[in-house]
Amino acid sequence: MYNAKAYSAASATSQLAPTMIPRRDPGEHDIQIEILFCGICHSDLHQVRNEWSVMPTVYPCIPGHEIVGRVTKVGSAVTKFKIGDLAAVGCLVDSDGNCPDCKAGLEQFCPNMTLTYNSPDVHLGGVTYGGYSDSIVVKEHFVLHVPSNLNPAGAAPLLCAGITTYSPMRHWGVTKDKKVGVVGLGGLGHMAVKFAHALGAHVVVFTTSPNKKDDALRLGVDEVVVSHDADQMNKHVGSFDFILDAVSAEHDINAYIQLLRRDGNITVVGAPDNPHAVSAFGLLFKRRSISGSLIGGIAETQEMLDFCGKHNITADVEIIPIQKVNVAYERLLKADVKYRFSIDMTSLKSK
Ligand SMILES: [Zn+2]
Ligand SMILES: [Zn+2]
Repeated sequence: MYNAKAYSAASATSQLAPTMIPRRDPGEHDIQIEILFCGICHSDLHQVRNEWSVMPTVYPCIPGHEIVGRVTKVGSAVTKFKIGDLAAVGCLVDSDGNCPDCKAGLEQFCPNMTLTYNSPDVHLGGVTYGGYSDSIVVKEHFVLHVPSNLNPAGAAPLLCAGITTYSPMRHWGVTKDKKVGVVGLGGLGHMAVKFAHALGAHVVVFTTSPNKKDDALRLGVDEVVVSHDADQMNKHVGSFDFILDAVSAEHDINAYIQLLRRDGNITVVGAPDNPHAVSAFGLLFKRRSISGSLIGGIAETQEMLDFCGKHNITADVEIIPIQKVNVAYERLLKADVKYRFSIDMTSLKSK
């Protein structure tokens, strides 16, 4: 065991503050990573403030699951990484490896998965500690390779925002010439736009703020639709192959379901507090479907990173030192970031 520097929250109402945390020494299958950048995901904020009744927060809480860094140590049985490699860790650090989900390469659905933070830690007791830290030790299977052409600060958010939007597009067959809608242009939405564009789709963004139009076009969007303008919405009825709904605020999902063509699908990756009211008629006509999606498996996460390397895709980030993390959380609540904060973890070294 050794001590690592980190930022933690002591309670649901505490600010994040510097602390020291224990990390395990790397075992034979483990990789130790010096963390360079960690993205700020909205989940971090929810978890720190204990806003999810299904996953009560254990304190102290060290969030962060969009991690990019350098390998500093490898266990004797590690074969895929060597010291100095650029490496990444996302939302998962372990799973049982033998359930049907794990065998299908879908570790994110394993009933015994270990999340990167706030999951029981089988090695040290207590809970796992995430990426707001100067280092982390993770089992090799859950460590990803980062293509060397990608900027590490912009690559960090790929580990959650990236895979969350890439996976459902692959599952629902987004390819060249498909018509794809993206609801909401935030951290998730801007990644969805980049992926859909790189996959060759015709990309339409739905937004409540018309002033996002120029930025949407810059990101690769073909059309921008202001979602509260009924005329603009009606022009698209029955025309979409796939829509990704990345909005966590309350909204009427039926307005988007009617835009799907026959066998079209809308996948939700945002989680409003209250259940969606879905009209069955909207689904019956044209055999439309609604589904959910949760990050992606390890193999698919690597596929996504390789795809990003090939197409030179990273998140648009605002880099901050860790000392600004509490200010960043307040700005995140106001959607005042284009489009993801990436924490420069070397700032932990300074006082
Ligand atoms: Zn996340
Ligand atoms: Zn499993």
